[in-house]
Amino acid sequence: MNGSVKDAIKSPLADYHAGEKEINPLNKMLDYNSSWADRADAKLLAQNAKGQSPKVLWLGCADSRIPESLLCGTAPGEVFVHRNIANCFHPGDPSATAVLAYAIEHLGVEHVVVVGHYGCGGIKAAMSMAKERTAAKSSSSASNSPPASYISPPDRDDQGTSSITHWLAPIRSLALAQLKTASN
Ligand SMILES: [Zn+2]
Repeated sequence: MNGSVKDAIKSPLADYHAGEKEINPLNKMLDYNSSWADRADAKLLAQNAKGQSPKVLWLGCADSRIPESLLCGTAPGEVFVHRNIANCFHPGDPSATAVLAYAIEHLGVEHVVVVGHYGCGGIKAAMSMAKERTAAKSSSSASNSPPASYISPPDRDDQGTSSITHWLAPIRSLALAQLKTASN
């Protein structure tokens, strides 16, 4: 990565707190926000105080490394955002469907973009679960016993992990279908 690209994706916080060793992350954010408000374009703040009319709805991953405003150089008020693990849009997810409806019907956005990224942990997890299930299924058909992956391992019994597994189910299904096609 060359210097100019590095500079372009560097968080403004890196300069703001350069040289400081350990800083409470929330204090760091509050400090930066306070100084940002002092330096911000007064015209932009006044305009945003009246309302918003973004042209773009961004459906992206919740990953902390891909802040859309920073990476795409957009100002506050330019992008309406919905982010979740692995940038999924589940038709049964009321949060996602409400965001989409509000963006189109009330804000009049002109573009809806679904944005993935390299090294997505959600995609990796879904792929890994699909591979695990495929391997368990083939070994169980050989031994005639129930597939191991159909029995929840103890470390997957907690509610948090179940939520993630449930959330990633459509991607896992897609990965399973691809693995099946590849094996035929
Ligand atoms: Zn991701």
